[in-house]
Amino acid sequence: MHFLSAQLEHYITDHSQPEPEILKKLTRETHLKVIQPRMITGHFQGRVLSMISKIKSPKNILEIGTYTGYSAICLAEGLTSDGHLHTIDINEELNAMQRRYFEESGFGKQITQHTGDALKIIPTLDVTFDLVFIDAEKVSYDLYFEACIKKCRPGSLILSDNVLWSGKVIEPLKPKDKATKTLVDYNRKLMEDIRVETVLLPVRDGLTLSRVV
Ligand code: SAH
Ligand code: CA
Repeated sequence: MHFLSAQLEHYITDHSQPEPEILKKLTRETHLKVIQPRMITGHFQGRVLSMISKIKSPKNILEIGTYTGYSAICLAEGLTSDGHLHTIDINEELNAMQRRYFEESGFGKQITQHTGDALKIIPTLDVTFDLVFIDAEKVSYDLYFEACIKKCRPGSLILSDNVLWSGKVIEPLKPKDKATKTLVDYNRKLMEDIRVETVLLPVRDGLTLSRVV
């Protein structure tokens, strides 16, 4: 889904940081070998995630939904030198590919992969997170958020991806479309929730920044 013209999107990308070679390679391999390559974070959004992480300079990052590791590497770019990123995915088939790229990126030692349902794993992590990236099952976004906020402190930043859901959040709701319904409710909740300050950015498919107060 393109909210802007292709020409403007190219202009924006051309005037943002270039995509690191390793992420180009990871994207190529994802398209060749993995199902649903559309889910991968692309060049522009990847540089946005990297920039947010560098500004925040987090000691601990939590990512929900690793896929092939693109967004994890972008977020890891902002870690403090002693920082650590925990990333969770339910699909163990992706594990080996993620690890190969984490090692090649130079962040291998700073990234821990967790395999399983994020809702079961998050409560077991004894870590306070400065930055969280929510990007797994859309129907579970609110449950992920509630699990994560327990592991945050004032000033922590919770990012939620794909919150515009190709624009479906403003279209008439189809009764069977649970993902859109969840995202509509989730976006309203974040805006009203007094535990966070929220801005929804029209980055790619919608990226919400919620700062814990
Ligand atoms: N963040 C990635 C894309 C994630 S795609 C990137 O930008 O490149 C969503 C991922 O969430 C998929 O890999 C899927 O396996 C994973 N997922 C789905 N349900 C999950 C769950 N309950 N717990 C953890 N991961 C889950
Ligand atoms: Ca996403």
